[in-house]
Amino acid sequence: MTAIEVALGDITRERVDAVVTAANESLLSGGGVDGAIHRAAGPELAEAGAAIAPCAPGDAKATPAFGLAPVKYVIHTVGPIWDGGAYGEAELLASCYRRSLAVADELGVRRIAFPAIATGVYGYPPGEAAAIAVRTLRETRTGVELIRLVAFDEETHELLEAALVGHPGRV
Ligand code: ADP
Repeated sequence: MTAIEVALGDITRERVDAVVTAANESLLSGGGVDGAIHRAAGPELAEAGAAIAPCAPGDAKATPAFGLAPVKYVIHTVGPIWDGGAYGEAELLASCYRRSLAVADELGVRRIAFPAIATGVYGYPPGEAAAIAVRTLRETRTGVELIRLVAFDEETHELLEAALVGHPGRV
């Protein structure tokens, strides 16, 4: 049984086995949550990312978490760049969550934290993204025991909570 929780705060403070980052295809440090995770993990994270890059949109790849200990792994996933919604964005975003869990399973991860992938610089509408995140995580078979959806702002937090209880949230 997998539990899904919603939290508000900085994902770099999460004490879980794996933290997911909203990366770009190069797996070098980006802005937003990826920048925060790279700063917390240290420069080895970008070196390890470069060694396994590129990562296609919708895919996920893992590296050690370096200075983010006690977190063991960073799972880098690349969201879709929002372009109006008719270009497969929803399927790519769902794939980010599915692939991240598959990679987590390969690594034996029991507790994982996700940010709101693609809802920052990549421009995905946060309400739709929250619904996709919750639906996809619920539909995916996994050995992960705890999934924490970490929002960085109140609006995202509310939208994720609404998605979790099955109501479409305000967008
Ligand atoms: P993307 O390029 O995939 O859109 P961003 O990093 O720009 O990724 O934004 C994704 C989400 O991560 C946004 O909701 C943003 O507010 C959030 N975010 C930014 N910094 C942090 C952080 N330190 N912890 C958790 N979430 C964060």
